[in-house]
Amino acid sequence: METLISTIKNQQKTMTKVHNFSAGPGILPQEVLQQAAEACINFDNLNLSLLEISHRSKNYEAVMEESMALVKELLYLDDSYKVMFLGGGASLQFAMVPYNLLRDGGTAGYVNTGVWATKAIKESKLIGNTQVVASSEDKKFSYIPKGYGIPTTLDYLHVTSNNTIYGTQIKKFPTAASLVCDMSSDIFSRKVDGKKFSLIYAGAQKNMGPAGATMVAVRESVLGKVNRPMLSMLDYRIHIKNGSMYNTPPVFSIYVTMLTLRWLKKNGGVEWIEKINQQKADTLYAEIDRNSLFTGTTAKEDRSNMNVTFVMSKPELEPEFDKLAKSANLSGLRGHRDVGGYRASLYNALPLESVQVLVDVMKDFEKKFA
Ligand SMILES: *Cc1c(COP(=O)(O)O)cnc(C)c1O
Repeated sequence: METLISTIKNQQKTMTKVHNFSAGPGILPQEVLQQAAEACINFDNLNLSLLEISHRSKNYEAVMEESMALVKELLYLDDSYKVMFLGGGASLQFAMVPYNLLRDGGTAGYVNTGVWATKAIKESKLIGNTQVVASSEDKKFSYIPKGYGIPTTLDYLHVTSNNTIYGTQIKKFPTAASLVCDMSSDIFSRKVDGKKFSLIYAGAQKNMGPAGATMVAVRESVLGKVNRPMLSMLDYRIHIKNGSMYNTPPVFSIYVTMLTLRWLKKNGGVEWIEKINQQKADTLYAEIDRNSLFTGTTAKEDRSNMNVTFVMSKPELEPEFDKLAKSANLSGLRGHRDVGGYRASLYNALPLESVQVLVDVMKDFEKKFA
């Protein structure tokens, strides 16, 4: 085993250091990748790969248990909550949430803050009464709506904590009797009291692991209130009852999520990473505001600490900036295909040093072309 680990470590050492600003799947800690690589060959010293053993083996059951416990701890949840790891991505949750929570004759409320919220609304409308209580579509989703009325009769209010594509983030969550949140792109990036929510979901691949698993944490008392006949695979209660092993779970994604959450906890948890994430975002936004060639695209008070979106005042210079970025080993900076411009994703595993390299490139670029 020793030689296997050192081979992996040596491989990492000889690789060119790339600053990975990818929006998703996103950057993971190097030591997590190392441990994941190891487990693909020899998991828990079983002389078998994690990828070729039963999900019902003792060793894997321990992974599932620890992953769920870490989620609860890092979201400050108590035992009234159940954690699941499901397939189908965050996108399947757009359907599963109303399917499990929206009653016949009831109404679900949604705040529309971008592409993902729009997709969630589309699914909810297919299942029951759906009301968009607020939207920022009027200004291309460049801000977070505030001060809107929330009907007290809603079965739940659905919000998106961080809008990965547009680069806005909810800083203060609305108060609703039952709050549901898509936290796919900022889960575990800051301290959040999960007990304020009925349900939280997040695809693993933005800030906690590789694609495949989606984490769902739900206050159990909100379930079982709908009358529709429930398809087994879409029924939270069946997944809870079976400990997320009603069918074969996405074992690798869950395992790497566990490693990432261990890494986070070991280093000081969400309070620790929140400070670093703030520092990274402050550093980059300060440069965007200072640099004469770049402009931020979102309202300042709603700026995301995870996905920083900006455009160039002379778009014809974009190829020049791309060249400079490439030569400095900056990767994944291009904006979403629907939005254009640039997007730097500053997920938990991205070091401050990478942001500093980006800022230096932006400064160089200004000196050359302004
Ligand atoms: C990426 C993303 C999704 C979609 O996730 P999938 O796992 O690809 O279905 C949903 N919501 C948000 C906020 C996202 O960033």
